[in-house]
This record gives sequence, structure tokens and C-alpha cells, in this order.
Amino acid sequence: MTKPHIQSHVSLKLLNTFGVEAKAKFFCQIRHLDDIQNILQNPTFKDIPFLILGGGSNLLLTQDFEGLVLQMDIQGIEKIQETQDCVLLRFGAGVNWHSAVCYTIEKELGGLENLSLIPGTIGAAPIQNIGAYGVELKDVFESLEAIEIATGKCQTFTSSDCKFGYRNSIFKQELKGKFIITSVVLRLSKNPKFTISYGAIQSKLESYDQDISLKTISNAIIEIRQNKLPDPAKIGNSGSFFKNPTIPNTQFESLKNQFPSIIGYAVSESKTKIPAGWLIEQTGIKGKHFGNTGTYEKQALVLVNHGQATGKEILDFSKKVQRFVFEKFGIQLEREVNVI
Ligand SMILES: Cc1cc2nc3c(=O)[nH]c(=O)nc-3n(C[C@H](O)[C@H](O)[C@H](O)COP(=O)(O)OP(=O)(O)OC[C@H]3O[C@@H](n4cnc5c(N)ncnc54)[C@H](O)[C@@H]3O)c2cc1C
Repeated sequence: MTKPHIQSHVSLKLLNTFGVEAKAKFFCQIRHLDDIQNILQNPTFKDIPFLILGGGSNLLLTQDFEGLVLQMDIQGIEKIQETQDCVLLRFGAGVNWHSAVCYTIEKELGGLENLSLIPGTIGAAPIQNIGAYGVELKDVFESLEAIEIATGKCQTFTSSDCKFGYRNSIFKQELKGKFIITSVVLRLSKNPKFTISYGAIQSKLESYDQDISLKTISNAIIEIRQNKLPDPAKIGNSGSFFKNPTIPNTQFESLKNQFPSIIGYAVSESKTKIPAGWLIEQTGIKGKHFGNTGTYEKQALVLVNHGQATGKEILDFSKKVQRFVFEKFGIQLEREVNVI
């Protein structure tokens, strides 16, 4: 077992897509399962907090981390089963999500095309059951392997073990911070059914004037996203900062009387989901600067770092956004981003 390389007082500025400064007391890049076991057996790290880091695209660092940051860099893609209809692929937790999407499209395997260009790693995808354009990770998820920090034991989680929900899983709830996901198995289809009912996808595909394929759908989504969302390499951000709230139909009906243009999608017989971006936009702050922070000009749901913001400033601004929305609509926005 080679010893993992532990560094001290490492800047995380380039390792989070908000681009905010925070230092890790200890830092280690994880390339092999052995690295994790080695660390868990090291008495120095027995009683200190761990932060598992992927691509840093769904977290907001508000202070230095007085513990050990493990940056997941376990690579590898392996075919573990093939049937007439599908292929099961195991991905190392550190594999870049979009590279995985491209790999499956190249192999003409369907399932991930709608999730093109989401930043981050495979290992983080189950944490919030990533989703976009009518598809969620859970639709292709088979299982994952994770190591329990307290015991060092490896455990397999099936889809039902993960308790996936809308931007949610057991790893954001009762098992938060307790497991290190080391690999994820996805079930990809050899005869894919395309999910292209979203208006934006339809019109993009029509503009291509080509047969619809995994590749053209992926290209359409990439174009739509590049048009709508800020590139973290240019403007620090973490994608959608809040979840879309779900409210009782009765509350939705009374809001509709007050705000006739309000948008809502029925999610059950008694509940309606409202786009958080629309709610924020109605408070008049879309595209506005608040010191070093603000909301993105094309999508109010994306909070941005205009260059010099601290994590604390972004967090304070996000609370202001929650207050504005609550005062106008009586709806409490819930954060999607993990605050550290
Ligand atoms: C421009 C932009 C667009 C985005 N669009 C979308 C979108 O369309 N849909 C969507 O769902 N999300 C979106 N996101 C959010 C983000 O990309 C996803 O949540 C992604 O899965 C985060 O991956 P990551 O590797 O960067 O995770 P990180 O930000 O590094 O970590 C996120 C959380 O997961 C934990 N974690 C990470 N890896 C592991 C592991 N191996 N084991 C245990 N815990 C782990 C971390 O501790 C943290 O709590 C977007 C973000 C940006 C910046």
C-alpha cells in the first residue's frame, strides 16, 4: 500500500466553481481505494472532520475547512454486464460527469444524453440525484459502492437504498457526510427512448435538420445550456442555487389570483411545483449586482461571484434572496447548494 500524499493549508479557490477562497487544513487527492483505507487507519485523522470533494460545482465554501479534504480522483470505466437491451458500466467516482456522457454517446448507449454538460464528477451525481431536461440520475442508476468513514467498510447501495428524490438522496439526509462514494454503476440502453418533449430541445433539434440521435440531442442540450448558464471558468457560480419549491394547490390558486402570470407544474394531485427562477425574477433582482455578488443576467436562479466575493458574502446574499421571495410570495426557498 503506497502512502497517499497529504498536504497542509491548501487553497481550494481553484477547486470550487464559485471561485471563492478557503483553505483546507489537510488535503489529499484520492486515486485508489487503498488511499482511503490508509487515511482511515491513520490516527492523525481519527477525530477530525472530512470533506469529500468532487468538482466543487455544488458547494459554497464559507470558511476555511479545519479538517481533511479528500478530492476524489478515482478514474476508470468498466463494462460489467451486457444483455440484449442494456449495458451496465461502472465508473470511478472521480470520472468527470460530462466525459462519461460523451463516452456513452460514442458507444451509442442511451440514457445520459439529456444530462450533457452538467459539471462535476460521477461520484457526486447520486448525492443530489442530478437532473436536467426531464431526466434524473435515478432513471439510469443501478448501484454504487461507498466506504463508511466511521468503519472503513465498503457497502453497496441500490436505487431504493439511496432514497432518491428531487435533488435529494439519503446522502443529503441521514447519511450526510458518512460515506465516501467510490464508484457508480449505470444501466445504459442499447435501444434508447428519447426524452425530447421540452420545447427548447424540440426547436433546437428542428433547427439542425438532421435525424434525431443521442449525439444531436446532446448537442442541442449543450447549446441550450451554454446560452442560458454562466461558464464557471468566466463567472463563478454553482448552477441553480435553490430548488424549485413545491406548494399545496390551494396556495398556488390563491397566488394565481394575485399574480396571474405565475407558472406552475402539477407534481401530484395536491401539489404544484413553481420555478424558483421565476419567483426570484419577480422580486426585480435578475441580473442585478449586490456588491461582489448578484444573480445571473439570463437566469435569476443562478447566484454569481463577480470576482472578489467571499463565500460568506454569497451566503448572506442568498439569505436576502430568500427573504425577498418570502416577503412577496410567502414561499421559503430551500438551498440546492451544499454550504460548508
Ligand atoms: C454551471 C452549472 C450548471 C449545473 N447544472 C446542474 C444541472 O443541470 N442539474 C443538476 O442536478 N446539477 C447541476 N449543477 C450542480 C452540480 O454540477 C452537480 O450537483 C454535480 O453533481 C456536483 O458534482 P461535483 O463533483 O462538483 O460535487 P461537489 O460540488 O464537489 O460536491 C457536492 C456534494 O457532494 C459531496 N460529494 C462529492 N463527491 C462525493 C463522493 N465521491 N462521495 C461522497 N460525497 C461526495 C460533497 O461533499 C458535497 O456535499 C450545476 C452546476 C453548475 C456550476
